[in-house]
Amino acid sequence: MLKLIKNAHVFAPEDLGIQSILIGGGQVLSIGDAIDCGSADVSVIDAAGMVAVPGFVDSLVHVLGGGGEGGFTTRTPEVQLSDVIQSGVTTLVGALGTDSVGRNLPALVCKTHELKAHGISAFFYTGSYHLPIDTLCGSIQKDLMYIEPCLGVGEVAIADHRGSQPSVRELARVASHARVGGMLSGKAGVVSIHVGPGEERLDLLHQVAEQTDVPLSAFYPTHINRDAELLAAGAVFAKQGGTIDLTTSSNPQSFAFGEIKCSKALKKLLSMGVSVDAITFSSDGHASLPEFNPDGSLNSLDVGCMRSLLDEVRDAVLDEGIPLEQAIQVITSTPAKTLSLHHKGQLKPGFDADVVLMKADSLEINDVICGGEVMMEKQHLLKKGRFE
Ligand code: ZN
Repeated sequence: MLKLIKNAHVFAPEDLGIQSILIGGGQVLSIGDAIDCGSADVSVIDAAGMVAVPGFVDSLVHVLGGGGEGGFTTRTPEVQLSDVIQSGVTTLVGALGTDSVGRNLPALVCKTHELKAHGISAFFYTGSYHLPIDTLCGSIQKDLMYIEPCLGVGEVAIADHRGSQPSVRELARVASHARVGGMLSGKAGVVSIHVGPGEERLDLLHQVAEQTDVPLSAFYPTHINRDAELLAAGAVFAKQGGTIDLTTSSNPQSFAFGEIKCSKALKKLLSMGVSVDAITFSSDGHASLPEFNPDGSLNSLDVGCMRSLLDEVRDAVLDEGIPLEQAIQVITSTPAKTLSLHHKGQLKPGFDADVVLMKADSLEINDVICGGEVMMEKQHLLKKGRFE
């Protein structure tokens, strides 16, 4: 059945003003102010007082849970379907983290398929924090070419005591394998990079670009709002052609250790002359948020939250004065482009019918439509996981 969203202020992400959006077959069919459906059977959603934006693209979620850095009782829980829908996320990329033993790639693929079966556009990165990259089919290229939801590699840890301390050559080889696998499979083939608190920051990525034929754009570094120095390094990286990712999940301890709130980091990057097209937010949902003492022992641990993705965009708009059409790009069109998801992240005819309706004044989520299916209506979840 066709669906017609009427009277919404549409941010596609560009501001299109008050429009109607016609949805059918899981796609946006047309956007206009006078859509005539003739005698067709149409279900109408009145979105007066709402803004309509593309469904959110969360480029890093620990769907299997993560953590464990403080022992087995500190393992974080798996993502549930309701976590995803209530966050307005319609597309996500799952990844392993520090623990690639207790959590592993076969389980990650199955979790990806579980979310896909529920109607979410779910993908994953092969590998983990560690080198050599563990794969499912024997090589990075095979994983990209044989496994449909595999988009790249990650999150490979640099500048972190929990990583494998990769060399320039090792990281270049991973990136080139991902790049070729991406070319051959028509996918992004990016390497998601976990950037830890080490003082070398993004140096290794620049060294790879300088010493080999691998460009900076092969890498998609995250946690760039970890501190002011890394944010400055991220600005340099972005101005040289890369895309940088900021992490929205945080806690008071993180801020005490110098982390910059995402909304403020976005404002700062824009004031430094970084193009908004080179900046994304991801939730790092269900990751652990550990804080370590100077001697490396664990101080505290929290769990990342997918809902922080919109919270930070909302704060960027309402507290920092960044226009919605700009701020919303960091969780819609820009991650979709970075991940080469060509039918995601924009409201346009032919794109997937992933739509979030939010109250225009508070930017609270009211409705979530994923692949044309209404999953949340008037703040009520219509769909949950089987065991929720
Ligand atoms: Zn990470």
